[in-house]
Amino acid sequence: MYLGIDIGGTNLKAGLVDESGTLLRTRKEPLGRVSDPEELAARLAGMARAAAAEDLAQVQSVGMGVPGAVEGGTIVYTCNIPMKNIPMERMFRSHLDLPVHLGNDADCAALGEYHCGAGKGCRSLVAITLGTGIGGGMVFDGKIYEGLGMAGEVGHMVVEPGGVPCPCGRRGCWEQYASASGLRRMTWEAMEAHPESLLWTITGGKWERLNGGTAFKAARRGDEAARAVCGTYIRYLAQGITNLVNLLHPEVLAIGGGISNEREESLLRPVREIVDRECYASHGGRKTRVVKALLGNDAGVIGAAFLGRSR
Ligand SMILES: [Zn+2]
Repeated sequence: MYLGIDIGGTNLKAGLVDESGTLLRTRKEPLGRVSDPEELAARLAGMARAAAAEDLAQVQSVGMGVPGAVEGGTIVYTCNIPMKNIPMERMFRSHLDLPVHLGNDADCAALGEYHCGAGKGCRSLVAITLGTGIGGGMVFDGKIYEGLGMAGEVGHMVVEPGGVPCPCGRRGCWEQYASASGLRRMTWEAMEAHPESLLWTITGGKWERLNGGTAFKAARRGDEAARAVCGTYIRYLAQGITNLVNLLHPEVLAIGGGISNEREESLLRPVREIVDRECYASHGGRKTRVVKALLGNDAGVIGAAFLGRSR
């Protein structure tokens, strides 16, 4: 058995996972304010111990998915928690002495999908998560591809030169258009341009009530402005996916995040049509299967638990 820990932007989650990837027990708590890494390590160890409960003696290793960059047992940097060069493995082991493996959270989600989700049985998988940004992870023959440590930052490939500024410093990054936040921004812009749109009725004109599903909902009810937004969104999403498919030609490309729950005919089918038509393999050869990720919010914990198996 393995323990997996997911350090998310809002929640901490620890889970006990068996050899087949089944999540046996979980512990979850809000991240809250983290001022001291030592304190965070102690909390994580406590949660892991609680998730393992009477099975602690069977646990072979602990994996930890971190929203940022890691190197060996060190958290190099995280984007939402103020931590830099933190020796997390050592800190954690002072509370719970088990082998510790650190990984990037998007990589862990990809590893979870590879072993027991959308990529089960395949040899190569790319997983993207459409959220605030776009996370990306790549698994080839059971191994995460990390490059020098930060490979898979798929959200920061430029799809619109000179486009919307991105916090990474460039303009026109994919995640400014094809993430849930990007879709939200484009929906809001469509509302401003179309005061007659149904989008106003659905949201009551409130930004807080606007989410990644709003445009799809209005489009289904026949709203022209919303249809145009969905069309644009799907083109951007498919453009980035086609780039990834051309670069890596994986067996499976799994799409996760809230938006991936949209109806098949509204999202996956049109995306697939564009990718199949535009990818280089359209000239012959095997096609990448573009599918919905299957593990949802559990992918991170399950994948983190499997870090010990893949190294
Ligand atoms: Zn960027």
